[in-house]
Amino acid sequence: MITFEGVTKRYADGTVAVDDLSLEAPTGAITVFVGPSGCGKTTSLRMINRMIDATEGRILLDGQDVREIDPPTLRRGIGYVIQQAGLFPHRKIVDNVATVPYLLGWDKKRARARAMELLERVGLDSDLARRYPYQLSGGQQQRVGVARALAADPPVLLMDEPFSAVDPVVRASLQEELLRLQSDLQKTIVFVTHDIDEAIKLGDMVAVLRVGGRLAQMAGPATLLTAPADDFVREFLGRDRGIRRLSFIPAKDVRLSAAPADLAVDASGRPLGWRADEGLLPYGTFDPERDSLRAALDAALLAPNGNAVAVDEDGGVIGVATREALDEVLGQYAARSAAPDPGDPRGGPAHEESRHESPDADPAHEESRDESRGADPARGEDPHG
Ligand code: ADP
Repeated sequence: MITFEGVTKRYADGTVAVDDLSLEAPTGAITVFVGPSGCGKTTSLRMINRMIDATEGRILLDGQDVREIDPPTLRRGIGYVIQQAGLFPHRKIVDNVATVPYLLGWDKKRARARAMELLERVGLDSDLARRYPYQLSGGQQQRVGVARALAADPPVLLMDEPFSAVDPVVRASLQEELLRLQSDLQKTIVFVTHDIDEAIKLGDMVAVLRVGGRLAQMAGPATLLTAPADDFVREFLGRDRGIRRLSFIPAKDVRLSAAPADLAVDASGRPLGWRADEGLLPYGTFDPERDSLRAALDAALLAPNGNAVAVDEDGGVIGVATREALDEVLGQYAARSAAPDPGDPRGGPAHEESRHESPDADPAHEESRDESRGADPARGEDPHG
């Protein structure tokens, strides 16, 4: 767990970037810092691995003040991913990923084997390993950046706008990939973004910051959508809060009826369309075991008769949700003020999990810090002075 206790950062010119910030980022969960540009997200993130030191207050990593841990030791347990990946242009992909293992003194064969394993893990073809960064797309480079941060298996991952520089389609797939990875790895992740949709999609917990570095609200995404703390948070969340909240409600409670005869299916029971005089009409499907109420509603809106077709994981029809059935569940949720966050890690077992063992020597943070500064020279404070 990462704990901020009354943390303030005042830069040399007097700018208060972060003001009396107190929050907890639970172990094994994704905590997102979100807010408009200049609200202190990056400064807050960089105080965790001491690229920037707080002016007042404390940051604790599993109970220990990070200022009592020397920066190399601290950063050994903290992976760091930045926008545009920050890869070393003159190093092959495999060697970029193996950066930290090399610094830890692993032999080349073992370090490269680890790198290859990670490339596969982040969904990259092994053929790309021999290429140089410029020979990869932006999305591929970003995956390499994630693989590199994971190389020494750090328990904590800091991610600073890692997906902001890629187009929306690639971005969505990187987000999915991160969620998939996280379900295996259960790292303690602090993720910075200015994009509220990204925050809601990725965050188990979301900290909304306002300019001046003040915490406006910290909550799970469903709670945030249901009960924004004030007008600032409400406006920042934007429109469609009610609809977006349905994404956090499972569709498994929707009452299903037997599929009617006018639903045409193929030989393996998959839907083909709704029979009508003019031919087969469009249909929409949802999987009650996996999908949200939003997906069920979307499926209903795709069909002219308003029925959503429920399917199993193989796509076979298991029934239909009629308009009335959808109405019943919507009515239940509309009436409740705050549904619990299914993804809310507080109270879950992950909360109590202890950190992994860290590897032995020091890693690449000197380099990644320099790169990150190169990528955004306006940021960054001299860590030595
Ligand atoms: P965000 O990541 O939310 O965009 P930052 O943490 O980068 O915000 O910055 C917060 C505030 O601190 C901004 O007003 C920014 O201009 C200021 N700031 C950031 N770095 C420095 C610095 N090295 N010196 C002075 N002010 C800084």
